[in-house]
Amino acid sequence: MQTNQNFFLPEYIQDFKCIGKDCIDSCCVGWNIKIDKATYKKYKNSTNKEIKSISQKSLIKDDLKSNINYGKLVNENNCCPFLTKEKLCNAFKLMGQQSLSIGCSTYPREITTFDKIGFISGSLSCPEIARLCLSKRNLNIKTLKKKKLPNIFNSHNVFSLQTKKKLSDKKLRFVEEVFSKINDNSTIFKTLKRIIISYDKINSSESSINNFSKSENEKIKKKLLHTDANILATFCFSKLVDRSKLGSQSSNGLADSKGEFRDSRFRKICKKSAFKSDYLFSPKTTFVEQFTNIYNTKFQKFRKENDFIFKNYFINEFLKNIDSIMNSKNSLNNFIRSIVFFITLTDFLLVCQLFEDNKKLTISSYVEVLSAVLKSINHSSKATHELINLFRKLDKNNLSKRLVALY
Ligand code: SF4
Repeated sequence: MQTNQNFFLPEYIQDFKCIGKDCIDSCCVGWNIKIDKATYKKYKNSTNKEIKSISQKSLIKDDLKSNINYGKLVNENNCCPFLTKEKLCNAFKLMGQQSLSIGCSTYPREITTFDKIGFISGSLSCPEIARLCLSKRNLNIKTLKKKKLPNIFNSHNVFSLQTKKKLSDKKLRFVEEVFSKINDNSTIFKTLKRIIISYDKINSSESSINNFSKSENEKIKKKLLHTDANILATFCFSKLVDRSKLGSQSSNGLADSKGEFRDSRFRKICKKSAFKSDYLFSPKTTFVEQFTNIYNTKFQKFRKENDFIFKNYFINEFLKNIDSIMNSKNSLNNFIRSIVFFITLTDFLLVCQLFEDNKKLTISSYVEVLSAVLKSINHSSKATHELINLFRKLDKNNLSKRLVALY
């Protein structure tokens, strides 16, 4: 990659600094960290006794065909075995920054490069980068050369996804149009519709957007609130098994048969939301009625006042998925579906917490829940795929209807 290559990046990417032991989560917790081939060999053959002993015990081969995912560190007590009691990385401490794997050197940034231009976004499963991204009103997208980004390209192991395809001038203009729409006065609902219309135009496709009247939108929204609350409650709460143990740390795992979400921040948030909304002890119809009422009376006000949160989330994910969005015709619609889904799931958990009378919703609470949702669900492609398809069935694959969730 040339040092004079230009990169588009939202300004918070440059401001990011890992807060280590002060982090409310940690990227070293809950995931089996993937290790690239060169780092795998470096750790296995290390002359440092501690690194060698941890590697012999916990570093195993994973995907031998992949350079980046060649090995993985098996968790101990749900943590990376290199994580110290002080929540610091032992490999970094004992061998220096250049010893980190490609994944650890790059996280929480995501970099994609086309022939002449690159795009940098953040992985919002990191609560600190999520905080920077979602708290910024009037978000600015900068264009900077690689040599002006020393705090991002701070190791030879930082990874960029290099696409072979070129970004045509027409597509680049579309990307710039998307950037300009982020700070206009429209709501996220209207902005996404306009972006889909522009995208259909550059692909010379018929418009895939229907416009509904105000009363139709209100009717659709009411129906979505009911169906989504039912489905998401089942997904988030039904496997909080033993009702009598709700609130106890010892109950069994949430979610899938592999217990993927066990002990995760997402699971703790589900427990809290179920508890605050009294879901497990109320008749379903009462729960849904109260949910709709609280959404309309308390949550909708927060949404309207902080609409920029949703636009910032959208733009970050747009940059992250730029390769597929630019290179495959239907991918923008699928991508927007996933954005609506993750917003709906986050909204759902937060509305449940608002059942508590004096609970006040803040941007920090939104950051906390969205980053936990993304860490557990977005990183489980199977769960994401299944849920999004379920929502697709319910709205009969009509994205215009699904978008009304953001109305
Ligand atoms: S999740 Fe983000 S802030 Fe937290 S330890 Fe990892 S990189 Fe640092």
